[in-house]
Amino acid sequence: MILDGKKEAALLREKIKKEIIILKKKENKAPGLTVILIGDFVPSQIYVRNKEKNSKEVGINSEVVKYSRYISEKEVLEKIEELNHNNNVSGILVQLPLPAHINKEKIINAISPKKDVDGFNPINVGNLASGYNSIIPCTPLGCLYLIRKVEKNLTGKHAVIIGRSNLNGKPMAQLLLKENCTVTVVHSKTKDLKAECQKADILVVAVGVANLVKSDWVKKDSIIIDVGINKVGEKIVGDVDFEQVKDKVKAITPVPGGVGPMTIACLLQNTLECFKAR
Ligand code: NAP
Repeated sequence: MILDGKKEAALLREKIKKEIIILKKKENKAPGLTVILIGDFVPSQIYVRNKEKNSKEVGINSEVVKYSRYISEKEVLEKIEELNHNNNVSGILVQLPLPAHINKEKIINAISPKKDVDGFNPINVGNLASGYNSIIPCTPLGCLYLIRKVEKNLTGKHAVIIGRSNLNGKPMAQLLLKENCTVTVVHSKTKDLKAECQKADILVVAVGVANLVKSDWVKKDSIIIDVGINKVGEKIVGDVDFEQVKDKVKAITPVPGGVGPMTIACLLQNTLECFKAR
């Protein structure tokens, strides 16, 4: 089974759109998402454009605040503070990476946890780790959504996650723990990566190394979620050797067209949830 992220994301967007139409009729108000974009890093510009386009399509009021790469940290913090108090703004996202003179931690901490649609604020990170309700980072949330398309009940499954970043690996581990999986997190210092992966019923790969995972690393009939995005020549490939692995496993996400589209759809979902929570 090839997990079609494009199709699933379109279905999720449709569901969000319908809910926003009903909410608009009831409350005469729509969710609002403000994205702060600093500098002229091309991939960030593309991501933000996609986020804006997708937001508008589902009826979210989308605003992009653009700053030059020389903007001071103080000015960005003041803008965030203003947005935190703006009732028309349900969600705030600061597109990463940031220029070196701006402290990422300070920026993330400044976003109100109630509007933190990326789920990066330590309050949301702590809530997730404690098993409480929280805003969940979009990529792991999208991964879980795709895993659930294959298997509804994950209790007792052995999940292995390659990568321990705050963005992907760690929140993914927390989410799968919450689903009663037995979770192993492996990383660049793990002694026998291949042996750990071979135990996985569910393998989530978030590394950034093209075609790292080969067919003899994966268990037959497992679920493989490939978060990686790597440019090889003119091609975009994942962290899993898709051609080698696809016929051995129960389900696998392609790259592109797997996790990527789900990330943006989950951002819209988070924005809607923030709107409803307020
Ligand atoms: P990151 O912060 O660089 O973390 C990478 C993780 O992989 C680290 O924990 C690192 O271990 C581990 N690692 C690196 N090389 C390894 C190796 N050879 N063997 C085992 N582990 C290794 O990356 P990230 O932000 O999580 O992103 C990972 C990938 O996902 C990237 O390709 C990124 O572009 C992609 N991504 C995709 C989406 C999407 O929507 N599809 C969203 C975000 C990111 P250490 O901790 O020991 O250094």
